[in-house]
Amino acid sequence: MKRIGAHVSASGGVENAPLNAQKIGATAFALFAKNQRQWRTKPLTEKSIEAVKDNLGKVGIAPRYVLPHDSYLINLGYPEPEALEKSRNAFLDEMQRCEQLGLTLLNFHPGSHLKKISEEQSLDIVAKSIKLALEQTKGVTAVIENTAGQGSNLGYKFEHLAHIIHKVEDKSRVGVCLDTCHTFVAGYDLRTPEACDSTFAEFDRIVGFDYLRGMHLNDSKPDLGAKVDRHHSLGMGKIGWEAFRYIMNDSRFEEIPMVLETIDDTIWAQEIEQLYALQSP
Ligand SMILES: [Zn+2]
Ligand SMILES: [Zn+2]
Repeated sequence: MKRIGAHVSASGGVENAPLNAQKIGATAFALFAKNQRQWRTKPLTEKSIEAVKDNLGKVGIAPRYVLPHDSYLINLGYPEPEALEKSRNAFLDEMQRCEQLGLTLLNFHPGSHLKKISEEQSLDIVAKSIKLALEQTKGVTAVIENTAGQGSNLGYKFEHLAHIIHKVEDKSRVGVCLDTCHTFVAGYDLRTPEACDSTFAEFDRIVGFDYLRGMHLNDSKPDLGAKVDRHHSLGMGKIGWEAFRYIMNDSRFEEIPMVLETIDDTIWAQEIEQLYALQSP
């Protein structure tokens, strides 16, 4: 089945996230496993870890349908050694938090070359960063998200995702998350079933659906190829409902967390209902 949710709040403690997901009728969800705008955060308490596990059980969402997102401060492709070290340590901390919580995925943006080195050099650094984190953790898959291609951010081409995967030895613990808004503004059309056919065929050829571990379902304020990351509520942006109807009726998107990061959290419950209603019987 399709597992749909939203990026819910974890304020007051990560254990609140599953409860917030249940409130909107979600069968999957995303969260920040720690404060996304701070480098240092207190370690998880034993009590909080137990509460997360209890609450996941209570709301009936298995850990594999939870897609934690790392901090926006982390850049695993950083061209300078000291800053890179700081990012790598923070990423490892996030992976370890997932491990402690019994969660199996960690979603992150690949990184940025900051115009100081080439894309290829920076992608190699990202791959090395992932490798280091995988070596020091167990059971958590590093899930690379495709990006809008704003500024010097990597990950806006399927080739970038493939490049990183290619350089990580342990293929069993590396995967990707496709964000529909990022895909579209990066230049891959999704507005019609034919456009979806061709975009996802290209994804399959270059990366492979075997690596797909999650989706971010967002409409887009900017137009195709604008390389600007501005999400919109479903059906209200430049992508439109057809893309979401396509995804909801395609078996390649079964049993992975599909998460709304749309701009109006007061209609998330409604958007989830609308998505399920798009499924043909
Ligand atoms: Zn996203
Ligand atoms: Zn975005």
